[in-house]
Amino acid sequence: MFENLQEKLSKIFKTITGQGRLTEKNINEAVRQVKLSLLEADVNYKVVKDFVENVKQKALGEEVLRSFTPDQQFIKIVRDELINIMGRANAPLELRHHPSVIMLVGLQGSGKTTTAGKLALHLRKQGRSPMLVAADTYRPAAIDQLEKLGKSINIPVFCGDRKNAIQIVKGALKAAQDLRCNVLVLDTAGRLHIDDEMMKELEDIKALTNPDEILMVIDAMVGQDAVNSALEFDRRLSLTGFIVTKLDGDARGGVILSISYVTGKPVKFIGVGEKLDALEPFYPDRIAGRILGMGDVLSLIEKAEKELDKEKMEATAKKLLQAQFTLEDFREQLRELKKLGPLSSVFEMLPGAPKIDVNASEKELKKIEAIINSMTAEERKNPRILNASRKLRIAKGSGTTVQDVNKLLKSYEQMRELMQRFKHGKLKLPFGL
Ligand code: GDP
Repeated sequence: MFENLQEKLSKIFKTITGQGRLTEKNINEAVRQVKLSLLEADVNYKVVKDFVENVKQKALGEEVLRSFTPDQQFIKIVRDELINIMGRANAPLELRHHPSVIMLVGLQGSGKTTTAGKLALHLRKQGRSPMLVAADTYRPAAIDQLEKLGKSINIPVFCGDRKNAIQIVKGALKAAQDLRCNVLVLDTAGRLHIDDEMMKELEDIKALTNPDEILMVIDAMVGQDAVNSALEFDRRLSLTGFIVTKLDGDARGGVILSISYVTGKPVKFIGVGEKLDALEPFYPDRIAGRILGMGDVLSLIEKAEKELDKEKMEATAKKLLQAQFTLEDFREQLRELKKLGPLSSVFEMLPGAPKIDVNASEKELKKIEAIINSMTAEERKNPRILNASRKLRIAKGSGTTVQDVNKLLKSYEQMRELMQRFKHGKLKLPFGL
């Protein structure tokens, strides 16, 4: 998903790479290109307009972190703004009543019935006891389809008289009590287009059940038409959110990037496949990451800016450049990087970094410190002088084994190699190294 948009944006970012700083001229051109790519991705015009305006303002302003290169600065601004238009944070389901009711609405073919099954499965995984309610009496096969889905995941499906949606829902409310189900997922009727009869039925079901959630299921492939129908559904029913389906297909991204901004209602889940486990809670930052193809690195940069002791890192960087990076510095470096989380995951986030064998647990870090502490100053400066007997002495002194000492030395060598690559510009390390 989002391949086209991703490709276009990365081309735009490349044009900024290598430029000394962000200037009005290069910002204007980049913003113009971003605007075109978003429009091509079928993003709502008003969303695009606000988006580019905000990106431009931020890029021209001072809201940038000093150790970012111009392209990183620009990517960060675009990323933040993508998150912004998608609603910032994950919006979880809010289920307050007993039993709770989740009403799924949407046009025919949007994936409502399938999503009902997915949602029921998700709720059960969360420890709830769901019941599916087959209130789509309009599409002939919908009730059988839901029954089959329910059976396959062993979740009760209430079908009532299979004719009258209101009667079915009434019956379901009662049956839920008998079966001790604490959340009802209603699959309601859709049409190919919005019509008044459908809306009236939905309004009646809403009045009858006082739903905790009224979620509109939207097919991402439909594009801006889907956004327009969303506005109409919202006007009539006051939606609480959306589930955008078929994001696994070649949807251009327009719906997911527009729907929340245009309606002011959050996307709560996304459908990413036909199977019943293909439903994911929606996280704007993760989608922004996927669109940019580099979300993790950016989170890392941000974290680094916040957590790391810049002076220490810069001092280390200087030593590195002078080829004076010792085991003592290595120890210091590990302590600093540790603040970012497990070291292995930190290195995983850096593109092109070699796999470094550093186990990040506290225990492991203590071991490393003990080994380094057991060395003489000379050995720390120049670990190449360590022979078998010196290694044995260090292992004994630190309460570790010769294997542990060797492992550390290997990690140190790999770290040195990594630093060398940064130094020679083969890799870029974001936090001033
Ligand atoms: P309804 O008319 O709204 O109830 O739609 P259905 O639940 O019958 O879904 C219509 C079609 O979309 C079916 O073939 C589903 O398998 C498919 N579908 C639903 N959600 C997804 C999804 O997230 N990804 C993909 N690839 N297909 C989906």
